[in-house]
Amino acid sequence: MQREIVDGQICQLYNCHLCCIETEMLLTKLDIHRIVKKTSIPAKEFVILNEDGRPMLKNHQIDNKVQCYFLDSEGLCSIYEIRPEGCKFYPFIWDLTNHHIIADDYCPHHCKFRKSPSITKSLEEFIFRLFGKL
Ligand code: SF4
Repeated sequence: MQREIVDGQICQLYNCHLCCIETEMLLTKLDIHRIVKKTSIPAKEFVILNEDGRPMLKNHQIDNKVQCYFLDSEGLCSIYEIRPEGCKFYPFIWDLTNHHIIADDYCPHHCKFRKSPSITKSLEEFIFRLFGKL
């Protein structure tokens, strides 16, 4: 059965946070601004530039796991309410090669998520904000 992505229901159902391990999640300026404002954590603590010079979430090592700066020891997102936009859309991502939205097969439950027209539209707008074009 497929479900629309709504507040991590499927992730909670399977107690899964694989996407937060060795994350490569890109960040918008708005994401960074919101997180700094709400947490008072300086951007340099949780932002790193990827090889294209785009800001993404920083990982750190905890008990042999390289994981998102914001993943807590219970496997939960410590900034869930204000998490980056890209995290909300995951497992849907932008396929940079073929220029369309795909469900990332790195997510073991990606087949269970349904991409509604409204999610597609919001995700396209998000991608536009990230890359400036589609
Ligand atoms: S910000 Fe939260 S949801 Fe996003 S990768 Fe980090 S721990 Fe996971």
